Amino acid sequence: MSRLRPSEFMAFLAVLILNVGAAAGDYAAARKELVDEITRDGRRVSLSTGIRGFDARVLAAIGNVPRHQFVPMLLRPAAYANRPLPIGHGQTISQPYIVALMTDLLELQAGQQVLEIGTGSGYQTAVLAELGVRVHSIEIIEALANSARAHLAETGYSGVVVRWADGYHGWPERAPFDAIIVTAAASHIPPPLVAQLKPGGRMVIPVGARFAVQQLVLVQKAADGGVSTRQLLPVAFVPLRRRR
Ligand code: SAH
Repeated sequence: MSRLRPSEFMAFLAVLILNVGAAAGDYAAARKELVDEITRDGRRVSLSTGIRGFDARVLAAIGNVPRHQFVPMLLRPAAYANRPLPIGHGQTISQPYIVALMTDLLELQAGQQVLEIGTGSGYQTAVLAELGVRVHSIEIIEALANSARAHLAETGYSGVVVRWADGYHGWPERAPFDAIIVTAAASHIPPPLVAQLKPGGRMVIPVGARFAVQQLVLVQKAADGGVSTRQLLPVAFVPLRRRR
């Protein structure tokens, strides 16, 4: 193989840099389009959610997180389509619209303690971190916990903690939490998670049997500890698994 002359090497480098630059620009433009689409959809969210347009902070978070860095390399060109994508191990990265909706429903304030069950790619984790909350995330598949940790570090979300465990039991040592988000569908609301919610806290969780239509449920714990639940809308999530 002949060696490149310095001028050829510089030309090669220039082409490489231009291509990388163009791709980054494409991603930014695609991400902006996605935010515009979610903004429009947010105004049409079903009345049952009580939402009239998404919180500007949630939209800004979606606009800041590089979703392409949380999907497999080959799927990067599709990273800003408003749909779920496969991330390996039979799991999926959630649809950005659903990520925005679930995040909005938690009504987060900076500095709050948040528990996430189902780290998956780490994308939802990053969106939560953008809101200035302290995220504790649990993933049951070790390989996904490891890759999510790596992607979160690469993209600069170093303050989140990812644990490899069965999230059904929550994280008692770090409880209580201001908010809990579950991104896999459970057959019932896990009692340990309700117990680990602070008074005044909110939990969003898809509930439903495997292969059946699931309902996104908002669980609220009142100041006196009373718990109320509200079914918001039909959704489709991978099942919450249990460790034997
Ligand atoms: N929020 C993720 C969605 C991932 S899909 C994202 O946007 O990428 C749901 C994830 O929940 C999967 O990674 C699955 O392995 C995980 N999961 C399923 N059951 C679990 C359990 N009991 N505890 C923790 N994670 C679980």
